Amino acid sequence: MDPFISNPKVDLHLHAESVARIDRLVAEREGRRPYDWEAWHRRLIEFPSGTARLERMNGELDVDRFGAMDTDSEMFLARVEAALEGAAVSGAVLAEIRFGMETVLRPRFMELFREAEGRVRSIHPRFYGEALISLWPSRTGADEVFEACLREAEHGLAGIDFLPVPYVEEADWTVAHGWASAFRDAGLGITAHAGEFSPANISSALGTPGLTRIGHGIHGLDRPDLVETVVASGVVLECCVTSNVLLGAVPSLDDHPLRRLAAAGILVTLNTDCPVRFSTDLAVEYRAGMDLGFSDDELRELTKVAVGASFTSEDRKRKIRKWIEDNVPESDTR
Ligand SMILES: [Zn+2]
Repeated sequence: MDPFISNPKVDLHLHAESVARIDRLVAEREGRRPYDWEAWHRRLIEFPSGTARLERMNGELDVDRFGAMDTDSEMFLARVEAALEGAAVSGAVLAEIRFGMETVLRPRFMELFREAEGRVRSIHPRFYGEALISLWPSRTGADEVFEACLREAEHGLAGIDFLPVPYVEEADWTVAHGWASAFRDAGLGITAHAGEFSPANISSALGTPGLTRIGHGIHGLDRPDLVETVVASGVVLECCVTSNVLLGAVPSLDDHPLRRLAAAGILVTLNTDCPVRFSTDLAVEYRAGMDLGFSDDELRELTKVAVGASFTSEDRKRKIRKWIEDNVPESDTR
């Protein structure tokens, strides 16, 4: 069987992409073409890598118009369902969606999320979805979000993603570390964006109470002392190969350090980051992993690492592992 099909997959790093998702849904309703992300990629790569590209993540879409449409619960439900459905269709047994921090303040957030998940599970019963909130303490309104995340932990919110400001340089993590203790004590999993374009923020991320994963982290390889610390910590990197190429975190796919990270003893996983805006899906990312030298069995191991590192419940992990065991037999050619 095609290894990309036979491999069950997990997406631990998947942004909700509200504006891009709403554009797709509205385009379908209006009978027009959605925004052309492939054309945007060609313009994007003319900007310097890093911040200049991150600032253009929504292309020329009317963020205010689509943002206003998102207050409608049906729209929210439809876009979350589309994101989960996309993961399930590309072979995911589990996907964690990270939402912008204001999302946690919307009425019935987790209830609507579970409703969207239920719709997808009715067609793909092997699939589970979880929700994370991306935040940073210095952002306006973050105090209210902090309280809301603690409350939503009781309603099934799975985790927190710290998104440091500044991002490419070192940020001040003092408040984030305090918040992380409270999140951890509330049972939330903790990850953080760090080390995408430079080694910045990796050390502080590793010092975060309860943190078990880092989004990207690939530039940890720039510093041997960091490699040692990451290995010793057992922290799992959420690698996003297509994203790294398009945003210029690496010069090209061939230069991606996924293999070198694994060889150094760092636990890596494959994820989509922003599947709509980067025109990718999990199958594409696993194929990239194969192009970078990972065998079918190694990709399967990588999925197991992702299941273990997920912020979903132990009960769901057991069910996912059992599904993989029952449905995707181990290769006998190893
Ligand atoms: Zn990300």
